[in-house]
Amino acid sequence: MSFTIAIDGPAAAGKGTISKAVVAHFGFAHLDTGLLYRAVGKRVIDGEDALAAAQGLMAEDLEVDGLRTPAVAQAASRVAVETDVRTALVDFQRAFAARAGGAVLDGRDIGTVICPEADVKLFVTASPEVRAERRYRELSEAGHNTDFATVLADVKARDERDQGRAVAPLIPAEDAVVIDTSHMSIADAVAAAIGAVQARR
Ligand code: C5P
Repeated sequence: MSFTIAIDGPAAAGKGTISKAVVAHFGFAHLDTGLLYRAVGKRVIDGEDALAAAQGLMAEDLEVDGLRTPAVAQAASRVAVETDVRTALVDFQRAFAARAGGAVLDGRDIGTVICPEADVKLFVTASPEVRAERRYRELSEAGHNTDFATVLADVKARDERDQGRAVAPLIPAEDAVVIDTSHMSIADAVAAAIGAVQARR
């Protein structure tokens, strides 16, 4: 039987951490849908057409190195405003959501567009400054040479594109449980998410 959990929210709000913890707790499969847009964005950087890249996307493409760089994140958020690109990625995501045994999909439009019938919808958010601080730490630890102001500007630019686009903008679904992690420990945020899932099972 399928059981779908949609986890949406802006960059670096804690979706990835919460998704992994929920998946570990319930034994579900996980799809980080940002990787789909990143894989398309990377191919565009490499010279391919965005729509052709989206239409030809395969599961293996999500495993390639170099999808986590700031340049690829910006390219991803630019291809993500294209309606045709988004449409080309819908079936892949819905097939994943319907798999037997339960699935967690995290992204920007899972609860609103991809899986409006999801069993549980979470919207994980935090202030831009807190998110930029987290992303800055991650990037520094991964050896990227950057500074906080640049990361904050990147976070805000992506927020603006994600929230302002005409198609599938980043907004909480009406029935989403909102978790603001700005002043929460990871353990508390994970506990809130698991509690919300348990309440709907
Ligand atoms: O989540 P992540 O930061 O990896 O996503 C990269 C970009 O892909 C986002 O900034 C957003 O523009 C786009 N995206 C999207 N819809 C999703 C997931 C990601 O538009 N479901």
